[in-house]
Amino acid sequence: MTPSIDPLRQRTTNILPQRCHECSEEALGRCPDCRHSFCQDHFPKQEHSPCAEKQMKIAQFQVCYVCGTQVYPDQWSLAKTSHFVDQFTCKGCGRYVCDELHTQRKAEDIVIVREGLRGHRYQYINRYCDLCAPLYHVGGIKGLAYVIVTVGTIVATIFFYFHH
Ligand SMILES: [Zn+2]
Ligand SMILES: [Zn+2]
Ligand SMILES: [Zn+2]
Ligand SMILES: [Zn+2]
Repeated sequence: MTPSIDPLRQRTTNILPQRCHECSEEALGRCPDCRHSFCQDHFPKQEHSPCAEKQMKIAQFQVCYVCGTQVYPDQWSLAKTSHFVDQFTCKGCGRYVCDELHTQRKAEDIVIVREGLRGHRYQYINRYCDLCAPLYHVGGIKGLAYVIVTVGTIVATIFFYFHH
């Protein structure tokens, strides 16, 4: 009989030690966009390819949907296991919003990701625009549409049930 190996544990062991995708430093965080691992210096999007090139291509479209001010989505590491990600988009409607005038509300999502022996803390900064801020608790305009669809489905189901 072959000894059973926990597949998750085996995978965790195999990926250690992680090296930065850009240099030979120890990797500390994983870019949420390209999924590569980077050291503290290369973690910001502007500091590594292919994200830096991609950022350059779409920079002209990264403008606040209200006032047209250019926004600069960013991510950075505060410490070895603490990373911040700010997409500069409204969590409710997905559009870019500027920081100064049109971010009505900011909230943070904290995601802990285990990588090897460490637990990494990713702090996602969620913004809400003027329109979505009042709908914050249901997840903005997109969330509201979802709630309406769900309620509609329940109503339709009840209707169907009583008429057949
Ligand atoms: Zn590096
Ligand atoms: Zn990246
Ligand atoms: Zn704006
Ligand atoms: Zn919005």
